[in-house]
Amino acid sequence: MHPQTNADLHCHSTVSDGTLSPQALAARAKANGVELWALTDHDEVGGQQQALEAARALGLAYLTGVEISVTFAGKVVHIVGLGFDHHDPRIVEGLRATRGGRGARAQEMSEGLAKVGIHGAYEGALRHAGNPELISRTHFARFLVETGQCGDVPEVFRRFLTEGKPGYVPHRWAALRDAVGWIVDAGGIAVIAHPGRYGFTPTEEYALITEFMAHGGRGIEVVTGSHTAAEMVQYADTALEFDLLASRGSDFHSPEESRVDLGRLEQHLSGKLKPVWNALEYRIHWPA
Ligand code: AMP
Ligand code: MN
Ligand code: MN
Ligand code: MN
Repeated sequence: MHPQTNADLHCHSTVSDGTLSPQALAARAKANGVELWALTDHDEVGGQQQALEAARALGLAYLTGVEISVTFAGKVVHIVGLGFDHHDPRIVEGLRATRGGRGARAQEMSEGLAKVGIHGAYEGALRHAGNPELISRTHFARFLVETGQCGDVPEVFRRFLTEGKPGYVPHRWAALRDAVGWIVDAGGIAVIAHPGRYGFTPTEEYALITEFMAHGGRGIEVVTGSHTAAEMVQYADTALEFDLLASRGSDFHSPEESRVDLGRLEQHLSGKLKPVWNALEYRIHWPA
């Protein structure tokens, strides 16, 4: 596959905080011209078999995927895994443990919101969660929009769900070493998701990249729906500087909410970069 391949290696289904099923996403990917697809649900591989089979039936090349929540230097970092064996018991068990605290966290978030007069948020968020083990801030945001407390999802995050706000509950996610280890041990490649989103200082970012690479991480998202055009240029330079493989994905969650549709990123990887999919050729599930 060439550097200009329409690869979309980052998106979410109802198995985490997306609003479309793995099958509906596969159909949307095909319709939107995706040539290589990966479903990367948060902390969960429960949609992989369905995605793989739907892709195969549609004649779409597929890589297994996941987006793991990690706590690094007191902040949340997301690590995407691509092309791993989704039946490997170590990643399956590691992800189960990572999901573990979400229920109790959601209860606490609901208590925080009740203090500012928003009641029934836990039950309300749960109704939006296709997978109760994966109840997330996104589901709370959808509940608050549904009940007219806010106009849209980003407004809910600004007013209620980010640090210092009433519905925010700090949480300890997976360790960077573990997340990268699960992916690599299962035969995949670990990729730093949307590096531009973390608000790290250059020193913090250097620490993240060097520790990530020391644990066996090899890739970084350059072209993503979560980056501005300037950040895509910046992280292309970062990929070159650290000799990291470059990835590309929309981070699509929902037709109503996402800025970039599945398969509709405008930018391609610049010719100087090494696309992560070239290093994963042998892990691609080709259609029959
Ligand atoms: P959680 O894993 O429960 O902390 O939820 C994180 C998810 O919330 C992310 O994967 C995004 O889908 C969503 N999210 C985080 N920040 C924002 C934001 N500022 N606006 C909209 N969605 C956001
Ligand atoms: Mn999400
Ligand atoms: Mn993310
Ligand atoms: Mn994502």
